[in-house]
Amino acid sequence: SPLTSINGYAELIASGLAKEEDVKNFAEIIYKEGNRLLKIIDDILKLSKLDEKSFEESKKSVNVREIAENCIQRFKTLSDGKNITVENKIEDYNINTNLSLFENLITNIYENAIKYNKCGGKIILDSKLEEDKYYIYIEDTGIGMSKEDMARIFERFYLADKSRARNMKSTGLGLSIVKHICDYLDYDIEVDSKLGEGSKFTIEIDI
Ligand code: ADP
Repeated sequence: SPLTSINGYAELIASGLAKEEDVKNFAEIIYKEGNRLLKIIDDILKLSKLDEKSFEESKKSVNVREIAENCIQRFKTLSDGKNITVENKIEDYNINTNLSLFENLITNIYENAIKYNKCGGKIILDSKLEEDKYYIYIEDTGIGMSKEDMARIFERFYLADKSRARNMKSTGLGLSIVKHICDYLDYDIEVDSKLGEGSKFTIEIDI
């Protein structure tokens, strides 16, 4: 856990055993792991709120294209940093939903599409309206995942590849929150992915 390395490195510094030249490096690790711990706590709080179904906010009409666009702008530094091309093909369409939960849902999937993308990769957001169904697609050309991982990524604390995930502020809780939000809002969520090629998440909403 992040706390184990935070305590370990802090103890090394406190006891005077750390070499002068290592102190800055250890402090950086403590800072990074501290941030990871904060993210885990934040995610656990969100999950427990979802477990209790204690969301007071009522549903309202929300423009899906605008929510997606806001999300793209919020993460622009991150996507630009990896030279990722983002295409928002979602058309203007309003759904009746819980705004903060819906934002959280899109954000979690979108953030992963950046995090697990390759440098110079692509993300496409799209939507489709059928008779009584509305679909939202978030597709990336990233590292993808195996069939075994696809079956398990919505589980709590599941990391598809622990070594690669460690460096990326991973908690293994993001998609568990996604699944909980979908259950709460009565949406279906599916993933289709190919290792090394990319992943496509589909949210299916009854209208
Ligand atoms: P986190 O991203 O914090 O590790 P998540 O619950 O969001 O946790 O994701 C669980 C695992 O699913 C990740 O560790 C990652 O390996 C895999 N994953 C999620 N989204 C993608 C994606 N778009 N492409 C490839 N792998 C992904």
